[in-house]
Amino acid sequence: MKNKAEVVIIGGGAAGTSIAYNLAKRGITDVVLLEEKYVPFGGTGRCAAQFRLQFGSVENCKLGLLSVSQFDTLGEETGYGDLEIIKHGYILTSYEQESLDIQRKNVELQKSLGIDSYILDAKQSKEVVPYLSTEGLVGGSYCTGEGHINPMKMVYAYKKGATDRGVEFNDYTKVTGIEVEGGKVKAVKTNKGTISTSCVVCAAGESSKYIGRMVGVRIPVEPAKRQILATEPVEYIKAPMIYSFKHGTFITQVPNGNFLMGSSEPNVRLGEVDFTPTWDFLERMAKLGIEQVPMFAHLRVIRQWAGQYGIAPDDSVILGKVPQVEGFHVACGCTKATMFAGAIGTLVAEEIAGLKTSLPMEWYSIERFDEGRLIKDPAIL
Ligand SMILES: Cc1cc2nc3c(=O)[nH]c(=O)nc-3n(C[C@H](O)[C@H](O)[C@H](O)COP(=O)(O)OP(=O)(O)OC[C@H]3O[C@@H](n4cnc5c(N)ncnc54)[C@H](O)[C@@H]3O)c2cc1C
Repeated sequence: MKNKAEVVIIGGGAAGTSIAYNLAKRGITDVVLLEEKYVPFGGTGRCAAQFRLQFGSVENCKLGLLSVSQFDTLGEETGYGDLEIIKHGYILTSYEQESLDIQRKNVELQKSLGIDSYILDAKQSKEVVPYLSTEGLVGGSYCTGEGHINPMKMVYAYKKGATDRGVEFNDYTKVTGIEVEGGKVKAVKTNKGTISTSCVVCAAGESSKYIGRMVGVRIPVEPAKRQILATEPVEYIKAPMIYSFKHGTFITQVPNGNFLMGSSEPNVRLGEVDFTPTWDFLERMAKLGIEQVPMFAHLRVIRQWAGQYGIAPDDSVILGKVPQVEGFHVACGCTKATMFAGAIGTLVAEEIAGLKTSLPMEWYSIERFDEGRLIKDPAIL
């Protein structure tokens, strides 16, 4: 492992690997990425592999657009190859007129930003998702530019693109401390030695608050458990992801035919890291799944796993410089870092390289919490 680097990145998930690649692409190659376990051990390796554009805030719509525009070329650009991108779309379902009205407003916003989404009634919803039950359904919003990307392949592509340009990746290397002198970053301490540097990026997912404590900065990110069930595979029909605010669930079929479904966790305390799959979730998710897709009653569950979101108070990403410590940057707090990886990497790399950023960094800065500028997005579960 190098003992000196221009930039040290903590965390080998979607955020960290994309930042590494985007720095290298901009000519900053004296970069070391440190990962406590392996790439991608965290949320990225446990996610549902979906990306979308239908959000209810300008800040998140813009992150989606910037990211998704890069996915199509990432495999070729890095020489990694196919990333299993399939644009099957998302349908965000509504069971009450009031909720459909909110979606109508979101669609207006999305259209004004160039996102091709539209409202469907219950009959049209059934036409795009033939296995969806229309019981109680009022309609939904739909966009075809969204879909599936294999998150493993995505981070391996970023890793290949970065290491081919000279970036060093170190697995099983835990960051244990950060030296700060005169308000400036000086070095990063690990279980394998110390690296002198004047620039550190914290992309440690739900562990980011602990990294913040190493430099005396409060990063308002807490772990929140999420679980997924996977069914046995059946014929793949490329129907959209079903995202239901009423049920608090998502349901999608992946290209090899398995259905993945997950939900928010009402019974788990925010702040506890826990990777244990539970029976309670299996029962609850199976019921919620069958309610929306009755044919699930005849499918077997073959796997179940748990992961963590690292969430900020407004469920949105925290990006960029931290004013209290010169040379300390963050990229965390987001429940959608896989789909936003392209944008996260681009923005953080542009800022470190001293370039004009593709989107305003103040939208996503950590200072927004002190200044009361939270990102308000009604389209996030
Ligand atoms: C069940 C589930 C389903 C999801 N579905 C989707 C989806 O469909 N689409 C989507 O976009 N998002 C989804 N998400 C959210 C998404 O997975 C996360 O937002 C994303 O993976 C976070 O990426 P990250 O790089 O910020 O963090 P992570 O992927 O968690 O990476 C952080 C890394 O930092 C490392 N680390 C921590 N502390 C240290 C340390 N001290 N030293 C060195 N390394 C350290 C960890 O080992 C970890 O590998 C889902 C999440 C879950 C749990």
